[in-house]
Amino acid sequence: MTTLGPINGEHPIPQHAIRSARIVGDDGEASVVATVYCPLKERSATVRECESCRRFHALHFDAPSRTTSVVCHTERAISAMESADPLAGVSEHVNPAAPLAAIMSRDVICVRPEVTVDEIAALLIRHAISGMPVVDADGKPVGMVSRADVLRAAEERGDTEESERVSLHRDDVAPLDMEQGFHVYEPVKVTARDVMTPVVVQLHESASIRQAASLMAYEGVHRLPIVSDDGKVVGILSSLDVLRWFGRSCGYLIPPGRRRA
Ligand code: SF4
Repeated sequence: MTTLGPINGEHPIPQHAIRSARIVGDDGEASVVATVYCPLKERSATVRECESCRRFHALHFDAPSRTTSVVCHTERAISAMESADPLAGVSEHVNPAAPLAAIMSRDVICVRPEVTVDEIAALLIRHAISGMPVVDADGKPVGMVSRADVLRAAEERGDTEESERVSLHRDDVAPLDMEQGFHVYEPVKVTARDVMTPVVVQLHESASIRQAASLMAYEGVHRLPIVSDDGKVVGILSSLDVLRWFGRSCGYLIPPGRRRA
């Protein structure tokens, strides 16, 4: 939770950053689910749910951080939130007990298990990320797929035996001679399900930064899917996110990175 300046005489106003989970299906179509973590309800709420909430004030876009937030209404709601949150008013940059939601990436790319490795490679390049959660039809993580998994699949797919000299013959095409070193293989549809790490180490969105850092170090993973009460992915935390937070907590000026999965 962060705070915003006075609006309509009320000061300060709590605002909650919107997370968006983009889930790419095997047809290449992406559906987007936008949520915030509501400290009053102590769970994720969809933006649509916020818009029908009596405490909803506005959607706020912060240009420098390119973050959109839900701004809640009334002093009474603020008091309730502050009393429910013992960390209120404490900067996430100096407190390792601060919620990891303060530093996780809220714009997370997920794929379904049926998405091919070629499509995953394209997503990794397009969004400048190094890995992504694989989710089921409910948006719950079932695995993680990384750049290394994609490279390994590509290497295995090209791992065919060399032949001394190969001649291809078709009825209506002249024979095609291939020199030694060239390969002939049947294209195989390799999907996320085939290459992902099926065991998912994940954390609830209310967990702290120190819990996340400890879990990543203990499990030896570089990224954690962050889930809401219902187990759906609402963000992703990378080891780089934790390092950036640590650097800032030491007083260094660290610009926001690009995509951080
Ligand atoms: S608008 Fe309502 S549901 Fe949304 S974050 Fe604020 S209090 Fe929670």
